[in-house]
Amino acid sequence: TKVKDMSAEVVDSNPYSRLMALQRMGIVQNYERIREFSVAIVGIGGVGSVAAEMLTRCGIGRLLLYDYDKVELANMNRLFFRPDQVGMTKTDAAVQTLSEINPDVVLESYTMNITTVQDFETFMSSLKNKSFRPSKPGSGVDLVLSCVDNYEARMAVNQACNELNQTWMESGVSEDAVSGHIQLLIPGETACFACAPPLVVASGVDERTLKREGVCAASLPTTMGVVAGLLVQNTLKFLLKFGDVSPYLGYNSLKDYFPTMEMRPNPQCSNAACLERQKEYILAKPSRDAAA
Ligand code: ATP
Ligand code: ZN
Repeated sequence: TKVKDMSAEVVDSNPYSRLMALQRMGIVQNYERIREFSVAIVGIGGVGSVAAEMLTRCGIGRLLLYDYDKVELANMNRLFFRPDQVGMTKTDAAVQTLSEINPDVVLESYTMNITTVQDFETFMSSLKNKSFRPSKPGSGVDLVLSCVDNYEARMAVNQACNELNQTWMESGVSEDAVSGHIQLLIPGETACFACAPPLVVASGVDERTLKREGVCAASLPTTMGVVAGLLVQNTLKFLLKFGDVSPYLGYNSLKDYFPTMEMRPNPQCSNAACLERQKEYILAKPSRDAAA
C-alpha cells in the first residue's frame, strides 16, 4: 500500500516518489526491491565514493564499504569527500555523509587492505555470511563493485569472487584521467580478471608496466563521475532487471567514444577457481537450455 501512495503523487517531498515513478512509467517492474539488495564497494576513492552516494540516494538496502586509506586534501579534486573530513578513514567519512543523506541504508565500514592474508579472509566472510534480508538468510551480497586503482587489489577481488561464485563489476580510470571502463564478471560465464585484464584488452598495455613508481597520476572529477555513473546505472539494471547490462563498456572522453565487447572465459586461465567455475558452467548447460 505504501508503494501505491508514493507512486500516485506526481511530486511530493518524499525522495522515493521520483524513483517510484520509474515503475509507474514502466521502466522498472518493482522498484521497491532496491531495499532488499546488498552491494559491496571495494575502494572508496574517486569512483567508489560517488557510486556509494548514488546507491544511497537510490535507496539501496545495505552497503558494505572497504578501503584502507584516509581522506587527504589531495582528494578534493574528486567528488564526495569534504575538507573537514581530512584525516578520517574514507570508510568512516563515507558512513558519516551517507547516513545523513539516507538513514534507511544499512552501512558497514571495513577499514582494511583486502590484499593482506588476514583482511582477505574477513573480506570473504563479510561477502558471504551476512545478509540482512530476512527472506534469504546467509545469502551474502548481491553484487560486488571493484573501484580500486591497482592490479593487486583487483586480483584479490577476482580471487574472492571466483571462490564464492559471486558476480561482480570492475571499474577503472586511466592514469591520464581521460578514459575509463566498467566490466561485468560472472564466474565461469564471462572472462575473469585473470582471463584477460581489461586494460590489456583495451589498449594492449599491461597495467603492471603502466603504473610508474613516483609518477603522480592525473585525475578528473568528470571522468571519475562518468565512470561511477556508468557503473551504478549498470548495477541498477542488473539488480532490478531492466534494460541490458553491459558486459564491457569503455569510455574515451577525448572522442566521446564508448566501445563495448563481450569476453568469454579463457580455458587456460591461471586462476584455479575460475577453471572450476568454467567447468560448472559447462556442466549446467543442459538444464540452462531446458529452462530457456
Ligand atoms: P591517488 O592514488 O590518485 O592518490 P586514490 O588512492 O584515492 O588516489 P582512487 O582511484 O581515487 O585512488 O581510489 C581507489 C581507492 O581504492 C583508494 O581509496 C584506495 O585506498 C582503495 N584501495 C586500493 N587498494 C586497496 C586495497 N588493497 N584494499 C582496500 N582499499 C584499496
Ligand atoms: Zn579466469
